[in-house]
Amino acid sequence: MVVLDGKATSAKIRQELAEKVKGLKSEGKKIPHLAAILVGDDGASRTYVNAKVRDCEEVGFGSTLIKLPTETTEEELLKAISKLNNDEDIDGYIVQLPLPKHIDETKVLLAVDSKKDVDGFHPENVGKMTLNLPTYIPATPQGIVEILRRYNVPTEGKDCVVIGRSHIVGSPMSILLSQHNYPGNCTVTLCHSRTKNLKEVCQKADIVVAALGRPGFVTADMIKEGACVIDVGITRIDDATKKNGFRLIGDVDYENVAPKCSFITPVPGGVGPMTRAALMMNTMKVTELGSK
Ligand code: NAP
Repeated sequence: MVVLDGKATSAKIRQELAEKVKGLKSEGKKIPHLAAILVGDDGASRTYVNAKVRDCEEVGFGSTLIKLPTETTEEELLKAISKLNNDEDIDGYIVQLPLPKHIDETKVLLAVDSKKDVDGFHPENVGKMTLNLPTYIPATPQGIVEILRRYNVPTEGKDCVVIGRSHIVGSPMSILLSQHNYPGNCTVTLCHSRTKNLKEVCQKADIVVAALGRPGFVTADMIKEGACVIDVGITRIDDATKKNGFRLIGDVDYENVAPKCSFITPVPGGVGPMTRAALMMNTMKVTELGSK
């Protein structure tokens, strides 16, 4: 069994990107500049955004963090977005989700200039991804594809089950793994809360991607010997023994599932760090795809 080490792989990616930034600098080219908008004071969102800013600093990208209070109106947020769309120095930006309930996420997503949409959530970029055209791909599925590639995990002709059909993880994952390239060429089954006989469906799979947000949901009896299991789930569970007061639990019962697997991602240290690395990869892509 091979543990797909997202922490080590993402560190390697950041190192590679830092080298590329040095190259751009020495050629006198523009260094990518990523901005992030954070609305409100959600603890998890704050942690994620701060980590993204740190990643930018590590690879040498420019970064700007725009913090707005929870009471920010939709109009005010759309104004901040319009400003970023028109700011020549900002190559790409993200609006950290979730947004406060009084703000319409779809409106916000549509307001982002698709050329600066490094999260890959804008319909134009989703369309391009679906057509396998060069574009920004949502960070979590992109991070998963990247770790499969770097560990040479076989995918061609494999039966793959994706559990969860969200727009940011499950749905794009199912598209990417069924595309006509590597990693891809899988026969994909996309499952969700209405799927019948999920256990039996999973038992036939060579690759299982669990992205439903239910801690320990995927148990050993659902997994075929030799399968590759990708655990996307992150649930925070209170834990007084931890410095930050919580620990992260994946969607897979790792202890019992891992011995059956050919490859598996741990939580933490699997898909999470790869997601962060993929955002940095997308930000580097602005030099090829972006507004310049
Ligand atoms: P989401 O939007 O809540 O979607 C969950 C999906 O799981 C839905 O499609 C839902 O089906 C399906 N589902 C829920 N219960 C199910 C069940 N019992 N059986 C089968 N399907 C079920 O979640 P998300 O944003 O995709 O995130 C999923 C998990 O990944 C969360 O734990 C999240 O924190 C984590 N995550 C991790 C990263 C990372 O970097 N590691 C990034 C993003 C998300 P319906 O559509 O029928 O409701």
